[in-house]
Parts: sequence; C-alpha cells; structure tokens
Amino acid sequence: MLHLRRIAQKSAPRAARRLRQTGAQAAIVQSYRGYASSSDPYDVVVIGGGPGGYVAAIKAAQLGLKTACIEKRGSLGGTCLNVGCIPSKAMLNNSHIYHQTQHDLKRRGIDVSGVSLNLPTMLKAKEDAVTGLTKGIEYLFKANKVDYIKGSGSFVSPTRIGVQLLDGGETEVEAKNIIIATGSEVAPFPGGGIQIDEKQIVSSTGALDLQEVPKKMVVIGGGVIGLELGSVWSRLGAEVTVVEFLGAIGGVGIDEEVAKQFQKILSKQGIKFKLNTKVLSADKEGGKVLIKTEAAKGGKEETLDADVVLVSVGRRPYTEGLNIEAAGVELDNRGRVIIDDQFNTSAKHIKCIGDVTFGPMLAHKAEEEGIAAVEYVKHGHGHVNYAAIPSVVYTHPEVAWVGKTEQELKADGVKYVIGKFPFTANSRAKTNLDMEGFVKFITEKETDKILGVHIIGPNAGEMISEAVLAIEYGASSEDIARTTHAHPTLSEAFKEAAMAASSKPIHM
Ligand SMILES: Cc1cc2nc3c(=O)[nH]c(=O)nc-3n(C[C@H](O)[C@H](O)[C@H](O)COP(=O)(O)OP(=O)(O)OC[C@H]3O[C@@H](n4cnc5c(N)ncnc54)[C@H](O)[C@@H]3O)c2cc1C
Repeated sequence: MLHLRRIAQKSAPRAARRLRQTGAQAAIVQSYRGYASSSDPYDVVVIGGGPGGYVAAIKAAQLGLKTACIEKRGSLGGTCLNVGCIPSKAMLNNSHIYHQTQHDLKRRGIDVSGVSLNLPTMLKAKEDAVTGLTKGIEYLFKANKVDYIKGSGSFVSPTRIGVQLLDGGETEVEAKNIIIATGSEVAPFPGGGIQIDEKQIVSSTGALDLQEVPKKMVVIGGGVIGLELGSVWSRLGAEVTVVEFLGAIGGVGIDEEVAKQFQKILSKQGIKFKLNTKVLSADKEGGKVLIKTEAAKGGKEETLDADVVLVSVGRRPYTEGLNIEAAGVELDNRGRVIIDDQFNTSAKHIKCIGDVTFGPMLAHKAEEEGIAAVEYVKHGHGHVNYAAIPSVVYTHPEVAWVGKTEQELKADGVKYVIGKFPFTANSRAKTNLDMEGFVKFITEKETDKILGVHIIGPNAGEMISEAVLAIEYGASSEDIARTTHAHPTLSEAFKEAAMAASSKPIHM
C-alpha cells in the first residue's frame, strides 16, 4: 500500500478498489505508485501549481527529491498563465498590432485598407497561448517525474494533506516537507460596495474575456493591471477613463518622473485620467454602469457612466480551504503567510513562497522563491536578492524599473547622481520611428554604484534585465558605460544613460 490512499477505500482489497475507481482516478493513483510508498513519504509536496509552485516542484525533482504538486484549477501555471501575465500579454501584443496597423503603418509607407477587428479570433489566439503553455508545464512535470495531483489540498496535520480530487473522491498525501504556494486572488472593492459580475463590472479575469469592445470603459485603479488592460480595450476602440485615488499612475515602486511621462504618453493615446479621485460606488442602471466619484480629499462629486467597469484595486493572498490552522501556520493581519528569511513558516518543515506571502506579487519573484525554497530543503541554503527584482508594465511604450526610485533615496537621505538619455537621441529608436521615453540611471554619489534604473520606452521590459544583472554584480555606471553595446540598438540608450551618470553621453 502506498502513502497515497483513497480514504474511503482504505480497507477495501486492492482489486475491488481498482474496480470502483474511474479510469482517470485509477490513472492518477497509479501514476503516484511509481514514486512514493507509505513507508516512504514524499520529500516535497507543493500546494499550488502557479509560477512559484510549479517551478519549485520541477526544481525539487531535478534535485532528486520525490515530489508532488497539488493544483485545484484543472490546469497548471496558476494566475499567471491562466488569467494573468500570459493572456494579458497576448491581448496587449495583438491589440498593439491592430492599433499600429490602423494608425501607424501609413507613415511607414505601408498602405492597408479594410482593416477590421475579429475579436473572437483575437480571444482564441489568447486561449491558444494559454493552453499551449499550461500543457507545456504538464509535459515538464512528466519529464521531471513530478506527480501532478489534480485537486484541492487541505491540511490534515502538519505533515499530511487531504486532497479533494477534481474528478471525485479524496486522497491523502504524507510529506517530509511542504511548500505552500497558493497565490493570490482579486481583491474586492474596499467596503464591498461594488459587486463584480465578470460581464459589466469585471475584474482582470473578466476584462481578459470581454466578448465585445465596450463603447465606454471605466478602470478603477491606475496600477499596472488597470493600465495594461485599459490600454488593450482603448486600442481596440473603447473610450477609456482611469480613476485613481492617488496623484500618480503606475502603482507601487514607479519613479515619479517616469509616472508623469507615462501618463502624458497614455493621455496622447486617448486614455483619460482622473487622479486624486475616489470611487464611491458603481451601480448597474438601464444597461449602463453609473460610477459615483468624489475628490480624494472629499467634496466635489461626479457621476461617470460606462458600458464596462474594470475593478483593478489589487490582489490579496489566498489561503481559503487550506485549513492552515491544522498545520500551525500563522498569517499576518493582511492574510499573508508569515515566513522568515529562509521561507520557513511558523510550522516546522512547511515553507511558503509567492503571492501568498510577503513581497511584490510578481511571477518571477514567485519563481525565484520556489527555487530558493527547494534549495533550502535540499542543501540548507538558497538565495533571492529582493533588491534586484524588476517590474515591467507591458503597455506601449513599456515601462520597467529595478532598484531604488529617486523619491525613496531622498526619503532615506542618500546622496545620488542621475544619468538620463532620451530615445529621441537613439539612432535605432529614430530609425524605428518609436522614440518616446528615456533611460534613467540613479547611482550613489560617492561610489558610482548603480542604485536604480528606470526606463520608459520601446522594449524597456527586455532592456531592464541588463540593469538587474548590473545590480546583482554590484556594478557602477562606469562599468556599463565602458561595456560595448551593439550598434544600432535601443540598448545604446542604456549605455548612454550610464555614460551620463558617470561622465557625459556622446550623442546628446
Ligand atoms: C491580469 C494579471 C496580469 C499579470 N501580469 C503579470 C506580469 O506580466 N508579470 C508578472 O510577473 N506578474 C504578473 N501578474 C502577477 C502574477 O500572475 C502572480 O504574481 C503570480 O501568478 C504568482 O504566482 P504564485 O505561484 O505565487 O501564485 P498563483 O499564480 O496565484 O498560483 C497559485 C495556484 O495555487 C492554486 N491553489 C490555491 N489554493 C489551493 C489549494 N488549496 N489546493 C490546490 N491548489 C491551490 C490556485 O488554483 C493557483 O493556480 C499578473 C496578474 C494578473 C491578475
């Protein structure tokens, strides 16, 4: 008898039990048999198959640990692959091409006519991207011998997890180490005054699947997700208004100067902004949604109307149904799993990673933590450099940053130097007729060490990796300035901004 058991069938003879299993269930039970036995529990069980969980599971198996991953969604990849990073980037990319074809090709000497939107096909392309990638992870699980348990995991004790299988029945798994990677969910509108129906009043999930382009769309929240999805529907023809409580867009961590430039560029693209504005309510009336707002400081009320409202006010950690108390795992007052700097929860041998614990809610942060947590299990050491986690907004132009902002350094009393270079002075950007934005280096005044890099411009999301690497290696701006960058590339703007910080740029 293996450690994985059907609780209801525990005492039945094996042959009789087989007969009662559906074909699929039998396949699941049999697939675990190759790797685990009751006297020999799993080395690692990961709860949650998102970017944190699936990467942790693959890494654990690669390190020779007997591993299972429990996922209840029915497909791997978590929020990111199913309803987050991937579908949003599919829509961003294709809506950009549509918009460019309509508004930008003529000046490039390309005359096209009869351009029209086929939204069902665009949505299908998004679905195909999601399916291809989530199936790809299933393949990686098989290739690395990770047991994929399809169901909802719930702690029975600190070392045992009961699983409600998706195709019926229950199992239990025993593990020497458990990694909680249950991610996050859409945060409801504060006070609960706005009810999401995913048709007219939508979260990011509904906004990725609208079946027609709304005439008017109001986006509540000018953070990364609101701006990305607002851009998508604006490019496809919606009149988009973003309502933001704060005085700037872009969310946590964006440099103020970049945020201002970003807003100017998006405004030029047709998106309207209402900053310092609080949403009070959103009610459906006569086929429309009426959104009541007032000035953030109180006073001046206004009512907006929209066909679709996107509520994008953030995400919150998700531990529902996990019966986390049975494991002795503690949460903080914001529902985050409390961990130490080695990903240990308050329960022995239970670690936690990703959106469900501290830090930025980003897929690559979850992945890095997944690898480091497993390395702690296997070797007793691991590493994530939280000072070098990049953020990217995948609009056009893109916005990307890593490290400190000017406002943070001012608040900390750190003396710094700024080096900036605009894409209008970069030969490739000029050639590509894509010149909006700049690269901004922030270095320590005394040592020239790079403290932060902020980019708004074409391909910023790819270019930021060079800054991440520089920060990882403790580089100075002079190090970058003396590094050859291929010509003509956008990354020469990166080098020139480094030159501006360490001495002087050539092309400005
Ligand atoms: C619209 C949108 C766009 C985004 N774009 C980006 C982007 O471009 N770049 C980026 O870095 N990040 C992006 N994010 C954020 C990113 O998706 C998350 O940071 C990332 O998915 C977190 O990974 P995770 O593994 O911690 O959790 P998740 O991806 O949330 O995965 C957790 C998984 O655990 C499963 N689970 C939960 N409880 C149980 C249980 N009891 N039993 C079994 N399974 C369970 C869930 O079903 C889920 O699949 C975006 C998010 C959204 C919503």
